[in-house]
Amino acid sequence: MDFRFTDEQEAFRGEVKSFIAEHAPEGRLGTGDEESNDAAHQQVLEFQKAMAQKRWLTLAWPKEVGGLEASHWQQMVLNEEMAYQGAPSSQNMGTMWVGPALMLVGSDEQKQTHLSRIADAEDDSWWCTLYSEPGAGSDLASLQTRATQDGDEFVINGQKIWTSGAHRADWGWLAARTDPDAPKHRGISMFLMDMKSPGVSVRPLVNMANDHSFNEVYFEDVRIPAPNLVGERDRGWYHLAVALDFERSSIAGFSGSKRTVEAQMAYAQEHPEDLERTPQVRLEFGDRFTEIEVGTNLAYRIVHLQTSGIIANYEASAAKLFSSELSQRIAATGMSMLGLYGQLDGPQPHAKLDGGTGKSYLQNVSATIGGGTSEVQRNIIATRGLGLPRG
Ligand SMILES: Cc1cc2nc3c(=O)[nH]c(=O)nc-3n(C[C@H](O)[C@H](O)[C@H](O)COP(=O)(O)OP(=O)(O)OC[C@H]3O[C@@H](n4cnc5c(N)ncnc54)[C@H](O)[C@@H]3O)c2cc1C
Repeated sequence: MDFRFTDEQEAFRGEVKSFIAEHAPEGRLGTGDEESNDAAHQQVLEFQKAMAQKRWLTLAWPKEVGGLEASHWQQMVLNEEMAYQGAPSSQNMGTMWVGPALMLVGSDEQKQTHLSRIADAEDDSWWCTLYSEPGAGSDLASLQTRATQDGDEFVINGQKIWTSGAHRADWGWLAARTDPDAPKHRGISMFLMDMKSPGVSVRPLVNMANDHSFNEVYFEDVRIPAPNLVGERDRGWYHLAVALDFERSSIAGFSGSKRTVEAQMAYAQEHPEDLERTPQVRLEFGDRFTEIEVGTNLAYRIVHLQTSGIIANYEASAAKLFSSELSQRIAATGMSMLGLYGQLDGPQPHAKLDGGTGKSYLQNVSATIGGGTSEVQRNIIATRGLGLPRG
């Protein structure tokens, strides 16, 4: 089998590299704290605007809503190169799952209002995802936030938690219960919520890497216009499931991992004394290299499915599972090699590998929780992929 990209795709890759060299702010590549750090977030927004000018934020979207109708493989080339070069990449939920879900189930008005704004990276088009609640994470269908219809509005009351980027977001992609008496999967609806609405309060949660990336969000009699209901009332669970498939399809990041391992191996070449001190790291590099090759092929399989018009489901879970657990193993390999120096964070005299290893060791702990835990992914693979009975 010939897995090479075409000459045209490789030429596009060259264009992406030049774009990144021109627009990515030096010294702020791939630090992963874009949601925490105001200046870094601003740089992300500027970078996104530059991408939007080239229609690259929504490369594969239809032309009439701001895309270029590029192939999924071209999208893959863009994603790979952005991640490999460590371009400012804070998750843009609008382009990754809100927009694609709206294209499938949104009303004409919703599409007109939001799709081109997302594609153009307009100032009020940054989204957050309002699913999880204190009592509803893996078992998301247990969510209790209520949406009660009052004339031509819905009134929202309840609480969300772990909401990434809610402190930056203009809009929220909200799951709320519209029928408390129906079986739990059948009484949920999806809404588009203006995060500036009266009654919305966002409270920060600081994670173990000392980043403010997620939040608690409280709703007290928040009024949403009825036309902001997405798709069919009480059928939101099924719309949400499609958005989750898009989310998981976009999570697997093997080219960013490749960059990290290559940097670790370059360090090991320059500091053979560190490898002598920790000989097992040489063997770990063998494993990490092999895993990246395997993971890349899992990601390519998703693109192949998308090219065939199929939304990846258990295949996306397999890639998400493998990618998130691999990111933890890579950070652990880095820490083994650097020893106590690995704990020195950021630019300081004795920090090694730009001081990013300890930080990523802490940041990646959450990789196997966010977007659905590893246990949930394994359950999806076992039931939907392998046809095993539910436990
Ligand atoms: C970095 C990060 C970002 C996030 N961003 C968002 C966001 O933007 N929006 C949002 O809505 N949510 C977000 N979340 C929340 C995330 O989706 C939930 O944390 C996740 O779904 C797990 O839910 P929980 O925390 O309630 O854990 P629980 O569901 O309570 O799980 C606790 C443990 O039990 C295990 N478990 C649960 N059910 C089963 C089962 N059936 N079989 C086997 N094991 C099981 C889990 O795997 C886990 O180990 C984010 C989380 C993180 C870490």
